[in-house]
Amino acid sequence: MKPVIAFVLLCSLLVVSSTAEQFDFFYLVQQWPGSFCDTRQGCCFPETGKPAADFGIHGLWPNYAKCHSRSSYDDLTRAALGDVDVVFFLSRRRGKKKCWPEYCDDGNTLSPWEIRDLVASMETSWPTLSCKSSRSFEFWSYEWKKHGTCSNLGQHDYFARALALKAAHNLTAILAAAGIVPSATATYSMTGVSDAIAKGTGFTANLECNRDADGESQLFQVYQCVNRDGTQLIDCPLQMPTKCRGDRVKLPLF
Ligand code: AMP
Repeated sequence: MKPVIAFVLLCSLLVVSSTAEQFDFFYLVQQWPGSFCDTRQGCCFPETGKPAADFGIHGLWPNYAKCHSRSSYDDLTRAALGDVDVVFFLSRRRGKKKCWPEYCDDGNTLSPWEIRDLVASMETSWPTLSCKSSRSFEFWSYEWKKHGTCSNLGQHDYFARALALKAAHNLTAILAAAGIVPSATATYSMTGVSDAIAKGTGFTANLECNRDADGESQLFQVYQCVNRDGTQLIDCPLQMPTKCRGDRVKLPLF
């Protein structure tokens, strides 16, 4: 093919593919509030009061199955051509890797009106624990702007789908059914936690630990993989580093 024709073809493919954000799956990230709060940094409760001792949503994050180059031009080229060699070439040329899209539309600000019927559920299931602001709405706005604007979903669907997924797979109950309950002293094997979640949800999740104020390893966040519609759990295309120390973790009281 003549270079000029190839170039025109590539440009038209780029224009077509730029309407939808390209990503491969979502991570639904839920966190154990006890593990957020008992770190050296600590936490603050939302203005609605202390949340329940339950996993809370951190976010629903679009993710690539494979990291690639940072420039959006490269993202679009990859999407348009579906050509792995092109991705590798561009990645090596530019150096930096990008593993997820973020801040896809800075002008798209979360509207309280759009999610008005979800707010009560979100206050329960998606509470802020940050000391920067006790208003959970600020946390939701941040998550929307950073991740939600890349989801190809409208504001209402984005939050409603995350809430529905959490409700369909109650991690706190699933772990409790396997004898994994919050405790000041007990430790649990990572394999036991992972198996319990796989049995309870039908899918293996990625687990992330953090450290309490004494440096002990504890279960912090659970990353469940979700299809591009945000409606179904799927097998995770990626394994993440757990940041867990050894095979035993705590699940602190909250
Ligand atoms: P992200 O940029 O979406 O990965 O989220 C990371 C940011 O969210 C960090 O600034 C965290 O401190 C903050 N964060 C994590 N969990 C919570 C929470 N439950 N409430 C408020 N902020 C949080």
